[in-house]
Amino acid sequence: MQYKLGNYIHGNIVEASGAKRDIYSPLDGSILAQGADSSKEDVRKAAQDAAQAQSSWANLTTKARVEVHYNYRGLLKKHRDELAEICHKENGKAMPEALAGVDKAIELTDFACSMPQLISGSVQEVSKGIECKYRRVPIGVVASITPFNFPIMVPHWTVPNALAVGNAVLLKPSEHTPISAIRSAELWKQAGLPDGLLHVVLGSKDVVEEICDNPSIAGLSFVGSTPIAKLVYTRASANLKRARCFGGAKNYLIVAEDAHPKVADDIISAFCGMAGQRCMAASVLLSLGEITGIVDAVLSQAKTLVPGITLPPLISKQAVEKISQYLDKAQERGAKILLDGRTTPIQGPGSGYYIGASIIDWRGREDEMPLEEVFGPTLELIHADSMERAAELQNRSPYGNASSIFTQSGKVAAEATKRLQAGMIGVNIGIPVPREPFSFGGIKHSRFGEGGITGWSNVEFFTDTIKITTKWNPEDRKDWMS
Ligand code: NAD
Repeated sequence: MQYKLGNYIHGNIVEASGAKRDIYSPLDGSILAQGADSSKEDVRKAAQDAAQAQSSWANLTTKARVEVHYNYRGLLKKHRDELAEICHKENGKAMPEALAGVDKAIELTDFACSMPQLISGSVQEVSKGIECKYRRVPIGVVASITPFNFPIMVPHWTVPNALAVGNAVLLKPSEHTPISAIRSAELWKQAGLPDGLLHVVLGSKDVVEEICDNPSIAGLSFVGSTPIAKLVYTRASANLKRARCFGGAKNYLIVAEDAHPKVADDIISAFCGMAGQRCMAASVLLSLGEITGIVDAVLSQAKTLVPGITLPPLISKQAVEKISQYLDKAQERGAKILLDGRTTPIQGPGSGYYIGASIIDWRGREDEMPLEEVFGPTLELIHADSMERAAELQNRSPYGNASSIFTQSGKVAAEATKRLQAGMIGVNIGIPVPREPFSFGGIKHSRFGEGGITGWSNVEFFTDTIKITTKWNPEDRKDWMS
């Protein structure tokens, strides 16, 4: 089935005017939609339209604005299967994972529905007869630039909150997965969002550069790989925009000798779930002491995974090639390939973008392991004899997204959570996923800019705080401060 593809501008799908682009399904390589990228002029027009719509939206009360969110939440529930199916086709992830993405979008919309309760300010009589109070105001037109791996969930990290506090939004989805974004914009309109407040602009580098440069856009949020996050953060900041850019990851699972034997199931799902294309995916298994039984269980379970049946595809042919090249490099550096996904028979359509699970053994050669993100169903094994060495190995990574410790000892867990440099740390959980109202975000090169992308700091990012000082008693003047 071919989907309608175009920019979503002022409540309508319109053809973008840049270079032509086809959207392929990673499941079988078929064309899902045909359209074009936006030109810079398309982005400029969208930003101008958004700026016009935003001022009257900002004038509404928060309660009035979130009426739309309540309706939208209902529509997400009603169209849950349809949205998940789009996501499954354009991203390739399995249906249960795609449905979970829609459920997360609902949870994120719930948070935004509670905005009237969240943003009530504080008032204090700071000197006799003088009151200070805070007012939170939207920053204007904001952009949200999103990656391919969570086409439904990641845009919901930003769009519902940004709208609830009174901004207008330009959503720039991944060029691989734009269809979910367009469909969700249609649902926002059906929920009652006035035209002009949410635009979807398709494309890639040129569109993002225009967003960074455009003077009508006050701030941007980016989620994607670290090299692009750095470029976007640098360019947007140079233009004095508020920017917050979330980058890639190389997440470590540290498994202590006393870990529960069933940990193997968690490890498999943390490194092979979504074919390893989660920013929270486990990519390094660090044994803290002897865990031969667990490694053997992981290896034997990973061997049973069948690309096309129990292992979903990667996003593109290039992504498959990248994993292959990484395995070549690991072999050249002397790692043992315990399980080679390049040779695993594929049972999905030959035209899909599949590769098997791989396990790369660097034990004894820890310092040779490249520190780059792999982003596929690969697990790299390293070893440490002490927590100090484990932390040293993990903390030399430039990334700091997530890290997990598996142990049945509270003391070991406490030591790990103190020593590991990561923004999100799990204890006996492979994917310490974000859940509202907690914040989500890494540290080091997994994030540039302040604050998490969910929870309260997301509200702060999309607003300015204005302090109002009031005095109605001129006769009480005492000193220059009053
Ligand atoms: P990507 O960096 O290739 O693309 C992200 C966005 O940037 C897309 O919208 C894309 O169109 C745009 N883009 C691509 N090239 C660009 C360029 N040269 N200049 C400006 N913009 C450009 O990332 P991806 O492949 O879509 O997604 C996977 C990456 O995202 C992984 O590195 C993953 O770890 C990361 N990710 C991070 C988080 C997080 O919360 N930290 C969450 C999800 C994904």
